[in-house]
Amino acid sequence: AEVALLAALRTPEAVAFYDAGNDPHRPERLSLMGDLRAAISRNEVALHYQPKLNLRHGTVESGEALLRWRHPRLGPVAPDAFITLAEETGNIHRVTRWALAHAVAQLQRWSTDGLHVQVAVNLSARDLHDQDLPRRIADLLALHRVQPRWLRVEVTESAVIGEPTVAIQVLSELSDLGLCIAIDDFGVGESSLAYLRRLPVHELKIDKMFVQRLGTDIEDRLIVRSIIELAHRLGYSVTAEGVEDEAALAYLVEAGCDYAQGHYIAAAMPADRFASFVAEYTAG
Ligand code: C2E
Ligand code: CA
Ligand code: CA
Ligand code: CA
Repeated sequence: AEVALLAALRTPEAVAFYDAGNDPHRPERLSLMGDLRAAISRNEVALHYQPKLNLRHGTVESGEALLRWRHPRLGPVAPDAFITLAEETGNIHRVTRWALAHAVAQLQRWSTDGLHVQVAVNLSARDLHDQDLPRRIADLLALHRVQPRWLRVEVTESAVIGEPTVAIQVLSELSDLGLCIAIDDFGVGESSLAYLRRLPVHELKIDKMFVQRLGTDIEDRLIVRSIIELAHRLGYSVTAEGVEDEAALAYLVEAGCDYAQGHYIAAAMPADRFASFVAEYTAG
């Protein structure tokens, strides 16, 4: 039953239409959420880091932090599933705070070791309604003496569309602090170029849906090339996610994409392995 529950949680519709009073799985959900809260407080969740390859220089100077949770009975639980659960049960702030605190503490350790690397943390829609978030992040960076330019946040356009006024204010404050803002999963879901214009955006991340078949799919090639051109004209950098083979990587280089992320380069890995990976791909 828990496995079916996890599968059901994975659909985005589950968040939009969730009605706790009507949910036959409510007790299981709440007990799983309790497990997640306990795991967070006992540090049984972890951040793994996926390298981003700089396509111009062949170097790695940044990565994306991705949450990993191994449930004692269920084994690894997909982040899509437990993030959705945390969103539905009003616990996402807890998850986000944990992720930000751990990413910033890790940045401080790396910088002490002489490793200069930029890390992107994912934010959920609800985080963009949290007007305290910019101050909280500023405090965290000050506490760990980490410069804001080493931290980046990734948000989807749908997250902004929900409550645009507050979201735009939160993102503007983060940008004023010196953080870079990336638009995640660009090209899928609700999307509005009108909001994009009003946001302090530094980077577009092309959704893997368009990237996975770049080697063979003519339409995907045209779409990806157009997004790269659009992004560059607007002054943003572009990352392609879901690079799974040599053909996709070669196409992205040829099309002028700035960064590539995907299993062909490397999957997300624990912090110590990521540090060695970055050191190996440092210029000079
Ligand atoms: P995302 O932000 O779009 O992250 C990219 C996902 O693509 C990750 O899945 C990553 O492991 C996967 N991926 C990377 N390279 C490839 C590839 O070549 N092929 C394919 N098929 N997949 C690839 P993951 O780690 O399972 O995370 C899923 C989603 O969960 C993330 O999607 C993000 O929306 C959410 N998530 C993960 N960590 C956090 C977090 O700390 N906070 C929040 N709010 N959301 C998170
Ligand atoms: Ca992301
Ligand atoms: Ca993404
Ligand atoms: Ca097609």
